Amino acid sequence: MKTAYWIQKTHLFDSDEYICSSCRYISDIPYKTCPNCGRPMKKVKYDASWVDEAEGMSALMDEDW
Ligand SMILES: [Zn+2]
Repeated sequence: MKTAYWIQKTHLFDSDEYICSSCRYISDIPYKTCPNCGRPMKKVKYDASWVDEAEGMSALMDEDW
């Protein structure tokens, strides 16, 4: 079974978000399995490169495609 991981995105004035590395579902809580695609989550990876929202999304796309 394929697995995925959460990409932790922190905000200065908002609560953290966790993004599924597989389907890009955004969750407030790092569940053990993704509620959207159902893949088991192996870990939470903190991504400090979220400087720019658009830049972050394209980096995420590059990783999968
Ligand atoms: Zn997912």
